[in-house]
Amino acid sequence: MIDLQLHTTDSDGTWPWNRVLEECKALRLSACAITDHDTIVRRGEVLAWAKKNQFMAIPGIELSTRDRNRTVHLLGYFVDGPLGTLQERLNSLRAARLERNRKIIKKLQGFGFSVTEEDIKRQSGGTLGRPHIARTLFEKGYVKSIQEAFDRFLAHNAAAYFPLEEMSLNDGIALLHDAGCVTVVAHPMLLERSGQELEDSIRDWKSWGLDGVEGIYPSYTQEQTVFLNRMATKHNLIITGGSDFHGENKPHIKIGVGTGQLNVPDELLDPLFKRRREIARAIGVSGVN
Ligand code: AMP
Ligand code: ZN
Ligand code: FE
Repeated sequence: MIDLQLHTTDSDGTWPWNRVLEECKALRLSACAITDHDTIVRRGEVLAWAKKNQFMAIPGIELSTRDRNRTVHLLGYFVDGPLGTLQERLNSLRAARLERNRKIIKKLQGFGFSVTEEDIKRQSGGTLGRPHIARTLFEKGYVKSIQEAFDRFLAHNAAAYFPLEEMSLNDGIALLHDAGCVTVVAHPMLLERSGQELEDSIRDWKSWGLDGVEGIYPSYTQEQTVFLNRMATKHNLIITGGSDFHGENKPHIKIGVGTGQLNVPDELLDPLFKRRREIARAIGVSGVN
């Protein structure tokens, strides 16, 4: 069993990266990937930990991009070589996030809530966004759950929603490929597109060079997993899967097993590594095996 989507305190998770990795090891997973939102700050430590513990821990990222006017999360696996312009682009995204967080906070203050940037910053030194604002509203007793904070104020088009200025998905794929990463659209079934729209999207994505889709995910129905498997075969994409663990920010999700039934098989690793070698070859990076 493997788990290829995990979040830590470097973005909107509540466990530090090393606690997440220790848990993966204790669970005897065959591999895992740290995929914090819009940051690669921990890649060196993840690699060093993997080597020391003889455990397959993959440094990754979940990049916020835009496609058909909605946010699409793009996973990048193997952030362990020359980065190209990735770090610069992440710095710009961070600035855009700061600006957007300020707008949301201002709007909430207008509603009479006592919420400040300092409240948000206390939670993470890394990527800050809506989940941290949701947690603040929850901790101050303005809402009964993080979900309620999203439903009432932070979800797409809710009362205090502002869009994040993101790069296009097309650009995101190229950016991650230039950094040697395998690119996978995270949880495509959460995009609220019809089957036909999703297949049209997948055709676009494939034409932009996308490598895979996240086909195994805690909230998917059996039908959704079957659908994505069919899409992957038809459009020659790899499949990955993960729990999307966020610690106490998603208290019902556990590492490896998700809500209990998740099982991401080891067999997905071979195609993932094969794509990695092909990308390395294409950008002229040697020594990747
Ligand atoms: P941000 O990148 O700051 O826009 O925050 C995006 C994160 O917020 C996602 O990765 C989800 O974890 C969470 N999120 C977004 N929309 C919702 C929603 N409607 N309900 C609950 N969580 C959400
Ligand atoms: Zn997250
Ligand atoms: Fe995501």
